[in-house]
Amino acid sequence: MITGKNYIGTTLSAKGTTTYTTFNPQRNKENTTVFTEATPEEINQAVEAASEAFKTYRTVSGSEKATFLNAIADEILALEDELITIYTAESGLPEGRALGERGRTIAQLRMFANVVGEGSWVEATIDPAQPNREPNPRADIRKMLVPIGPVVVFGASNFPLAFSTAGGDTVSALASGCPVIVKSHPMHAGTSELVATAIIKAVKKTSMPNGVFSHLNSRGIEVGQQLVQHPKVKAVGFTGSLRGGRALLDIAANRKEPIPVFTEMGSINPVILLPKATQEKAEIWAKTYASSITLGAGQFCTNPGLVIGIKSEGLFKFSATLVSEIVKIAPQCMLHPKIQENYQKLVSQAKTQKHVEIVADLHTNVDENYAQQTIAKVSGKEFIANKTLQEEVFGPFSLLVECENKEELENVLACMNGQLTGTILSEQNELDDFSTVVDILSEKVGRIIHNGVPTGVEVTTAMQHGGPYPASSDSRFTAVGTDAIKRWVRPFAYQDWPNESLPDALKNENPLQIFRKVDLINTKEAL
Ligand code: NAP
Repeated sequence: MITGKNYIGTTLSAKGTTTYTTFNPQRNKENTTVFTEATPEEINQAVEAASEAFKTYRTVSGSEKATFLNAIADEILALEDELITIYTAESGLPEGRALGERGRTIAQLRMFANVVGEGSWVEATIDPAQPNREPNPRADIRKMLVPIGPVVVFGASNFPLAFSTAGGDTVSALASGCPVIVKSHPMHAGTSELVATAIIKAVKKTSMPNGVFSHLNSRGIEVGQQLVQHPKVKAVGFTGSLRGGRALLDIAANRKEPIPVFTEMGSINPVILLPKATQEKAEIWAKTYASSITLGAGQFCTNPGLVIGIKSEGLFKFSATLVSEIVKIAPQCMLHPKIQENYQKLVSQAKTQKHVEIVADLHTNVDENYAQQTIAKVSGKEFIANKTLQEEVFGPFSLLVECENKEELENVLACMNGQLTGTILSEQNELDDFSTVVDILSEKVGRIIHNGVPTGVEVTTAMQHGGPYPASSDSRFTAVGTDAIKRWVRPFAYQDWPNESLPDALKNENPLQIFRKVDLINTKEAL
């Protein structure tokens, strides 16, 4: 049952007077449950509890953490239809998407359970002592990754499950040994509370320390700001707007003790159509991109917001097919009236820019909170000159940039901000002819895709979901995949430490049977 209260560790609490409800964009009306925003006292209690829990949780074994993460997955599944019903009522997203996102959330939990259960993720590195080294003996040095401390996670509006309460940030942080305080996203507070209830049940069932997880409601920016300012918070995970992410980065940088804030913000994910691909597969790619641009009403961080090509008959055919295909797709409901309004505002802004031509626009009226998919066209020269056109339009919008030649295409790419992804559509041997384009694009993105679409981010070990600023705040890290755990750890070295007092990962006997780097060699051998 959804209570509308906060979880301070395992205790439900609602001391505040500020309340709010969520909104059903499909029905265009408020949902009924009333949520109570966390007070400064409750925020402090949650962080103190997390700090206290960290003293024991940081040393919980990998196999115990695996049991905990698997228990969270089981408890989320046990929520059955109640979770799916509230998810759809708070997001306007269809049931199929809810089920898919729940599947992704469960898979992420089980994946991290496997990672910490196996144990090699701590990157144990051992440089054994060299007592006979001349002129001085070398000490025994052993290093591994250890958790950083309490982490604050901001639920993301566009992924009520997979990037929210038990999403990638929370799960990777819990896997690393860090307690988590979730600042619930106000648009899906009920979904968030239900998932929090599942996590709290798992905490109790697996005897994890109270305070390892807390869940706070908020409908404004104050709760998040206080959390980021709290001296006992040691890192932050965020997915959302550039404005929000930047505000949190600045708060963290101005603290007495600055802390890392891993933000995943805007991206327009350029797609480059090389000439042979345009000539030979214009219609195929146009149909594929009509689907990708409108997937999930365009509310994905990997949405292809920019398609760039060199003027030709093929590009004309691509554009004409994209236009005819995209208007055939039924408009979809957006997550919230605020997001729909923002989309409408940014589309209107793009439409009124100098020399921008709207080539596909649904002229019919759409229902309240639904998005009209839009394709606009502009020349390479105008795109380079106009910064507004280089910003994210969150929704089913894409700008087609027509370049005069290869050089202009390179200049278009060179003027762009950092991005999560870049895509190249090409035919055989074409990549070699455009190697400079590939080079410029590679400097701008975290993941480069060949003959595909950027939407759909696999949760795997090799995945890189993070790119140069402002796509994310630190391009050295990923928000998706097993390496997401590395955001919440720091390297820690022991020098000449007695074997019996070392953590198991670094003991001579290698009792965990993990891969370690010993004198530069990867091995599971004991010393
Ligand atoms: P948002 O405005 O960035 O808010 C995300 C979270 O950060 C919310 O919980 C919000 O708190 C908090 N927040 C925002 N500004 C803050 C500040 N100055 N200080 C402290 N906390 C702050 O994003 P949203 O409301 O989820 O969505 C709005 C827009 O963000 C979308 O239209 C889209 O442009 C963008 N967005 C982009 C992506 C992407 O993947 N690229 C994903 C999601 C959203 P409160 O809500 O409690 O005020």
